[in-house]
This record gives sequence, structure tokens and C-alpha cells, in this order.
Amino acid sequence: MTSNGIGIPAPLGLLAELTHRCPLGCPYCSNPIALDNRSGELDSATWARVFREAAGLGVLQVHLSGGEPAARRDLPEIVEAARAAGLYSNLITSAVGLTPQTLSVLADRGLDHVQISIQDSEQASADHIAGYKGASARKRALAAEVVKFGLPLTVNMVVHRANIARVEPMVDLALALGASRIEVAHVQYYGWALENRAALMPTREQVEAAVGQVERLRKIHQGRIVIDAVVPDYYARFPKPCVGGWGRRSLNVTPAGKVLPCHAAEVIPGLEFWNVREHSLAEIWRTSPAFNAFRGDDWMQEPCKSCALKEKDFGGCRCQAFLLAGDACAADPVCHLSPHHALLAPLAAQGADVPYNYRHL
Ligand code: SF4
Ligand code: SF4
Repeated sequence: MTSNGIGIPAPLGLLAELTHRCPLGCPYCSNPIALDNRSGELDSATWARVFREAAGLGVLQVHLSGGEPAARRDLPEIVEAARAAGLYSNLITSAVGLTPQTLSVLADRGLDHVQISIQDSEQASADHIAGYKGASARKRALAAEVVKFGLPLTVNMVVHRANIARVEPMVDLALALGASRIEVAHVQYYGWALENRAALMPTREQVEAAVGQVERLRKIHQGRIVIDAVVPDYYARFPKPCVGGWGRRSLNVTPAGKVLPCHAAEVIPGLEFWNVREHSLAEIWRTSPAFNAFRGDDWMQEPCKSCALKEKDFGGCRCQAFLLAGDACAADPVCHLSPHHALLAPLAAQGADVPYNYRHL
């Protein structure tokens, strides 16, 4: 384990969760089950300091996220602070609650990029997934405004049981909306998505059909679409290099100022997370116990420890290892070499058309 700050790489990205408030209720929301409330949110002056410290650490890009970041009235000041710190700013928005007027102000204050998520190509289904009637129409309208202001637009699609059959029309919709970049990825089963695992889990037949669609789309739109994974981890044979490796590339600051190596990290018991109210970002990145917990490979067990792939996937996801195998130091059970891999098929088989437990604040 590296613990003295020597040899620790510089982070590239900062995920700034400005608030957990959101009008939508997506059942796969990456926010924690216990959401931070408004009274505990960092103020804009603290965010400005965090951005300066992030830039000093080597961060190039800040993702202004939530919840819905537009729920904060001081979003223009926060965008301005990101620009002043020299960071490239990406606003990740549900598009609900963000007016064209506010978007215009944000563009004037230096916003660089907008990312809008779409839930489905069929509007009724999209609204049902978001738990908000009219969300789909609002997203389409805001996407048009983003393009009108000349801001680059990424459309993000989270794929699961209810929409996996429509990856192709969803990509067509994103292109029609003027997206310069499209991201497609399967739900990751943490937090709210874990609560809704059965309702979100596709069948093996659905996954196989989607893989065919994706191969076709990759050929047609080479270089324009990033398709991370439409295969849920539970059907995979190898794990993903989660967040590019623990404490290697990015940090995540919660609305109340806690700094996490990834958004799900709080599920692992016993980790000590430091807060930007008490420590500088550099101190947290280099010396905080949580960031150093899974750096290097001292913590690894077999089969990862002697595996040739450990420098590529870092043993997979620590949160998933804990959630499925009960041990955050174990190989991610997604790996077919893991002694826990057999747990996954029965869990995937529990997929069913059952109601969502919507995220709520
Ligand atoms: S995933 Fe849905 S509910 Fe969660 S913050 Fe984004 S838009 Fe809101
Ligand atoms: S054994 Fe560990 S390092 Fe090797 S592929 Fe599986 S998860 Fe990755």
C-alpha cells in the first residue's frame, strides 16, 4: 500500500456533487440511499476553493453533478469558479429545472460542456423510468437549447431491462438531438440500482440482442459513440477497471464535502473519508486512509495477486467485491476466476417485471 504520497499519480477528473436534490426519481440513481440534505451543502466559496485545489493537484476537468445541479441558485457562481480555476467544466443535468435563461447565464460564465441523460427513445417509457411526467419532452427541448448556444452536448444513456431492446433508436434520438458524443452503459448495481436490481436486470436473451445492436452501431458511428458496456456485470466474465483504479484518476466530493475515491465507496465499512471542510484536497488525495486503502497491490488476495491482468483491471470493483463477496479485498466476483463468481448467475436470474422503488429526497 502506498501511504506517504510518493509515487501517487495526479488525478484528472473531479466529480462535484453540488446537491442531492433532484426532481427525478431514477431507480438506478448513483446517489447514496441516505441522501445529503440541503442544509449541509457546501457553499459556493468552498467549492471555489476546492476547484483551485483540484487544479493545483493536476485535475483538468470538473463534472458538475448532483442530484440536479440546477437546483442550486448559485450555479452560475460555481461555474464561474471552475473557469477561474482553469478547469474544463461539464454540467451533468437531468434537464428538468434548468431553464434556457439559466443555461444562457451559465454559457456566459464559462460553462464548457453539457451532458444530458435520456431514459428511453419512447417518451412514455422514458417518463416512467424517470418517475416524472414530461421529463422526456423537457430533455429534448433543453438539448436543442444547448446546441443553439453552441455548447458541445453529450447524451448519456443508462441501459437496463426496460430499454435495452431500444439501444439503436436511443442512439438515433441522441444523434437527432445534436449530440457530439454519446455514452451508453449498463446500470451499475450499487445504491438505488442495487435496491432495484430485479426490476433493472435484463434477461440473457435481451443482453445478447443488445450486443448485436451495439456491434452494428459501433461500425456505423466509429469514433463518435462511446459504448462502455451494455452487458451487465452479472453476465460478464471479466470485471471493469473500476474508476480507472482506486485513487488513481479521480475524486468525488459529496454535497456535504466528503471526498470519496468513487461514488459508491461509502458502502465499504470501516473506511475513513476526510472532508474538504477540514483538509485540503491534496492532503486528502495523498494521505487520507480511504484513498490509500486500495492503492498498489498489497491489499490484494489470490487469484488477483499473481494475475497478469491486475495492472489492467486492478482486481475489479472494491464496492462490488464487498457487496457480493462480503470482502472488499477479494477479487470482484464478476471475474470468472473469483471463487465467488457462481453467486452471480442466480442473482441475474432474479430479473423480473416488478415495480421500481424510485429514488426520492
Ligand atoms: S440519476 Fe436521475 S434521480 Fe439521480 S440525480 Fe440523475 S436525474 Fe436525478
Ligand atoms: S483474477 Fe483479479 S486481476 Fe485477474 S482478471 Fe480476475 S479480477 Fe482481474
